[in-house]
Amino acid sequence: MRITRKSTILSSVGAALLLGLTACAPAGSAGPGGVDETDAGESTGNGPYSLEIAESPEFEEGTTMAELAEAGTLRVGTKFDQPLFGLQGPDGTPVGFDVAIAALVAAELGIPFENIEWTEAQSAVRESFLESDQVDIVVATYTINDARKERIDFAGPYFVAGQDILVAAGNPEGITGPEDLAGKPVCSAEGSTPAATISEEYGAELLAAGGYSDCLDPLRNGQVVAVTTDNVILSGFVDQNPGEFELLGETFTEEPYGIGLPKGDDAFRTFINDVLEEAFEDGTWARLYEETAGTVLEVPEPPAVDRY
Ligand code: GLU
Repeated sequence: MRITRKSTILSSVGAALLLGLTACAPAGSAGPGGVDETDAGESTGNGPYSLEIAESPEFEEGTTMAELAEAGTLRVGTKFDQPLFGLQGPDGTPVGFDVAIAALVAAELGIPFENIEWTEAQSAVRESFLESDQVDIVVATYTINDARKERIDFAGPYFVAGQDILVAAGNPEGITGPEDLAGKPVCSAEGSTPAATISEEYGAELLAAGGYSDCLDPLRNGQVVAVTTDNVILSGFVDQNPGEFELLGETFTEEPYGIGLPKGDDAFRTFINDVLEEAFEDGTWARLYEETAGTVLEVPEPPAVDRY
């Protein structure tokens, strides 16, 4: 899979070239201000993502949905250090596509944006945060896989990323793919799928960080030769640090992003899957992407929900 970047952010030219950029922003797509005409009129202006908040939604008694709607708050685990998907803003509230997806779920429960309680959920703690009831859902560039499904459940996917490699601008080590990283120091986040893949499948010497933003200084100062994780996360770092880094632009895994929820709560999982499917169909999903990650990345087609 290749990702492309929009023509509006051509500042990091080297990185853009390596991303296979073809200046292909679709006509009518939202710019960094993020206003899309496609569903104008349906939005009510609630919160930063203009989501319509369900008014007194009815849920079967005893369900998680009924409990959350009654409580009027949703506790969400997300990333705080990943531009485009989950990045903590100056007021402490995160912004990004994952944040918008969480806000969508909250809105359908009748919970406005300001009543969402955000907790930073770094890669290694996501399952345990759900198991210990510290959060109600995790929306955090969270790959659905069988090992994780032994501890928690996933709704979705709502996006499909792929693992890629970030190197210093100019690619001084001449790295062309994961095979070149065997025996070399590479940074990734502890507990993540890319960390496991690069060390176990490609033999890299892993520097395990708490979050991916912690990998940038080691790459700058040469402690590692590359940072690896999902392409969209790395694109956010390229965009935020013009001229410093390059993305190889060739993915070598599939990372379907799911919404993590406590294991066995099938009614809650079905509800979230319904919310996602509706948002795929009515254009809300595309609008939320355009207003967040889509300010830098091409807007993809929504994936198919997997109701396992
Ligand atoms: N999607 C991968 C994972 O869930 C990498 C991104 C992350 O660590 O959040 O492990």
